[in-house]
Amino acid sequence: MKTSTEKESLVQRDQKHLWHPLTQHKTAAAPLPIVKAKGALIWDENGKEYIDGIASWYTAMYGHGNEAIATKVHQQMLELDFVMFSGFTHQPAIELSEKLMTVLPNNQAKIFFNDNGSTAVEAAIKMALQYHHNKNDKRDTLIAFEEGFHGDTFGAMSASGLSSYNGPFEDFLLKVKRIPTPQKENLKEVMAQLRSVLKENSCAAFVFEPLIQGAAGMKFHEAEGLDALIALCKENGVLCIADEIMTGFGKTGKNFASENLENKPDIICLSKALTAGMFPMSITSCTQAIFDAFLSDEVAKGFFHAHTYSAHPLGCAAALAGLELLQSKEITERRSYIQNQHQRFVAQIKTHPKVKDARCLGVVLALDVDIKMERYGTLRDRLYLFFMEKGVNLRPLGNTIYTLPPYIITNDQLQKIYDVIIEALDNL
Ligand SMILES: *Cc1c(COP(=O)(O)O)cnc(C)c1O
Repeated sequence: MKTSTEKESLVQRDQKHLWHPLTQHKTAAAPLPIVKAKGALIWDENGKEYIDGIASWYTAMYGHGNEAIATKVHQQMLELDFVMFSGFTHQPAIELSEKLMTVLPNNQAKIFFNDNGSTAVEAAIKMALQYHHNKNDKRDTLIAFEEGFHGDTFGAMSASGLSSYNGPFEDFLLKVKRIPTPQKENLKEVMAQLRSVLKENSCAAFVFEPLIQGAAGMKFHEAEGLDALIALCKENGVLCIADEIMTGFGKTGKNFASENLENKPDIICLSKALTAGMFPMSITSCTQAIFDAFLSDEVAKGFFHAHTYSAHPLGCAAALAGLELLQSKEITERRSYIQNQHQRFVAQIKTHPKVKDARCLGVVLALDVDIKMERYGTLRDRLYLFFMEKGVNLRPLGNTIYTLPPYIITNDQLQKIYDVIIEALDNL
């Protein structure tokens, strides 16, 4: 039966009532209706196919519509769809906590559930602040990296670098001191800067994206420098929070970027690939010492923070199925294949006249285009449209082109991503 709305296109209907994230609706192009996703591919309403070169913000790492995961989620839905996590517990959450303990850095002891990346960071920051509060040690300042991104709630925004995302809220943010990421050239200066921040403030926590700053444009720093900063923070009783929301679950080669560190973070935030893109869920894990600081005969020393959907059984089921895949022989082999291909491609593209820097770690590959952004203000949009026209979903960050493909991407699909990147560079 035909309804009156059927004559209107999906885009027209979208524009009536929907407010999209990260969008200036006055100038933004209309969004593209997507009707199907499978494996490394997504399809628009006209049947055009695109390779999802960033795994839909690095979530769908085992492929869209993964049947092994979907089946487990479906079974879980029929068995126990949802029950609140206060006063109750359930098998999927228990099993997930046990499985995570076998893969997380071994100083992690407790798993706290949230709904999304930002709230994982929010809980981490509140944990750290209350940890000191419970110990009667008043500490009010966060330390973070200049160009970090940790999400859009207030604590997470505070820990993020200043940008158009959080700029309007600057006056309302938590107290934060931002330092540059440690590189070989600047490690001494950054250490000195951290020392003075620690001296002049009462710092509660250091929040960082380990090894790769995602939203900043896939910017890398080395484990050694980060290790030195963490060590200094720990000496000063500052809790270290690793935001592994992007890097977690195999992106950097190891299961977690923190595995590259000698000094393990006190708190780790996980989301995105945690549930393979099938369900919004996140986790804030922490050490036994942090958990113990909330144990008291005083009720108010507990962590009174909750979300209605805490430990949603469907999210737990998706996460358990995802972890099984992460550790499978097949996915492990795919990850090293992608890693090797990335290394070859970086070696090849490095000398391209339009490339300023090319880098890769694990399945993350990024290159900076050597063109002045002032002259080519719309370069990012032109690149994006070019890639989409060629059937590849890549979303450049400023003048950084990056790919973070799903582990199950085929050899040909991966090659096609490289080919369109070269074509785009040649056309500049
Ligand atoms: C995506 C992301 C977040 C925020 O997660 P949301 O689910 O979008 O709230 C935080 N930190 C990092 C490193 C991220 O990549």
